[in-house]
Amino acid sequence: MKLCSACLLGIKCAWDGKDRKNENVIALLKKEILIPVCPEQLGGLPTPRQSQEIQGHSGEDVLDNQYRVINKEGADVTEQFIRGAYEVLKIMRLLGVKEFIAKQESPACGCGKIYDGTFTGKIINGDGVATALLKRKGITIIMEELFDSI
Ligand code: SF4
Repeated sequence: MKLCSACLLGIKCAWDGKDRKNENVIALLKKEILIPVCPEQLGGLPTPRQSQEIQGHSGEDVLDNQYRVINKEGADVTEQFIRGAYEVLKIMRLLGVKEFIAKQESPACGCGKIYDGTFTGKIINGDGVATALLKRKGITIIMEELFDSI
């Protein structure tokens, strides 16, 4: 059993009200149970919503209160991102799950790649807020692109 970014499994929870379906991840369901979770929704954000980006290098900085997460209209959504990250961690602990399949480039779920905070499409190295917290707590993060060659 693994937790998985819900949008990868076809759940329409992304900021634009769409999914980010990954057929290779969905194919895994034939072999094991994947639990869909969306940290942004679990943090209390609506769907659809404005796009959001971390104003710093990584979700690590957000967890340490060094940088904020801002939406495209300038509203501060840091609190919701941190709350959502801890809700995902709570679900993992309730179920005893140790692995999370992460949607890449998201300010919540991204693993190793996130947008740079300028809303210009530029990618930098870094983790989303939920991924950063899960890594700190010893959860194994599996990047979605690892399934692209399946
Ligand atoms: S927070 Fe994660 S699960 Fe939710 S839409 Fe963004 S990438 Fe998908």
